[in-house]
Parts: sequence; structure tokens; C-alpha cells
Amino acid sequence: MASCSECKNFFPLEDDPTLGDCVQRVVDPRQAYYKAKPVEAEMDASKCSSFQKK
Ligand code: SF4
Repeated sequence: MASCSECKNFFPLEDDPTLGDCVQRVVDPRQAYYKAKPVEAEMDASKCSSFQKK
């Protein structure tokens, strides 16, 4: 089972690698930007449509 820690968008916290940020590039017609949200490294990624294998 894939987890967030195996995803390209996952950036672990330095002091606690079981937690991290999911950082995704969002492109809309006017601009492109990055969106970050806190996630757990072991969170199930199988239902995530943005999962990208490292
Ligand atoms: S929530 Fe989805 S895109 Fe974000 S790190 Fe986890 S698997 Fe990757």
C-alpha cells in the first residue's frame, strides 16, 4: 500500500519525519501557485488522486 511518504509531494518535517507537508503545484488559468497542507507520512495514498511515485 502506498503512503504519503512515498509521494513526490511529501516533504517530511525535520524534527519529526512521521509528519510532513503535502505540497502541490496548482495551475489555474491566471496563475500557478503552491498549496501546502499537513499530512502524516503513513497516511494511505491509494485514494489520493494527486499521488506521484517518488
Ligand atoms: S496527500 Fe496525496 S499528494 Fe499529498 S503527499 Fe499524500 S499522496 Fe501525495
